[in-house]
Amino acid sequence: MKNDGAAAGPPSAGPPARLTVLVGPTAVGKGTIVAELRRRHPDLFVSISATTRAPRSTEADGVHYHFVSQEAFDELIARDQMLEWATVHGTHRYGTPRGPVEARLASGRPALLEIDLDGARQVRRAMPQAQMVFIAPPSWEELVARLEGRGTEGSRERERRLATARVELDAAAEFDHIITNDTVARATDELESLMGLTG
Ligand code: 5GP
Repeated sequence: MKNDGAAAGPPSAGPPARLTVLVGPTAVGKGTIVAELRRRHPDLFVSISATTRAPRSTEADGVHYHFVSQEAFDELIARDQMLEWATVHGTHRYGTPRGPVEARLASGRPALLEIDLDGARQVRRAMPQAQMVFIAPPSWEELVARLEGRGTEGSRERERRLATARVELDAAAEFDHIITNDTVARATDELESLMGLTG
């Protein structure tokens, strides 16, 4: 749906926004939606973030993230090579390498970032023409159920993520569009259309 919240950005006059920034609380299904979008559009550019957190057993360096040391992350910031960065869930740092995103946009093709609320606010300041999209759960209860059902975090980490989720949900009105992830197929349809990837 179009978000008519007071803080929403200007309506998209002129050419469609080429950079789309996707934000949503933990376990809302952002990753699944992005995976489905990539399945439909294998050439879609999705930024690979740098992070100081350790890889999970299912993750590969340079594919899911660029896994870097604290020192390397500091260096990326010092060299102004981060479009945005933030400490997420109060623990690890994550950031968007600037070069690949700018190169993609310069070539006139769309790009997608999946980042946290702090980072999205930084991108909005740096690139006001970016399209800000929030993925919302059908309800708070459903979000808690999805996080527990996923079973990838212990109870303390789940609590931390839910605390962040409350803050993020409260900020949904800042976004240009809110997509409710009721079903992956429908939510992906909506994102696809916002990014101008249909027809
Ligand atoms: P996870 O540790 O589960 O892979 O990711 C945790 C959170 O970090 C996600 O909610 C995701 O949105 C956020 N995140 C991932 N990459 C970036 C990034 O480049 N910048 C910012 N600000 N947040 C990110």
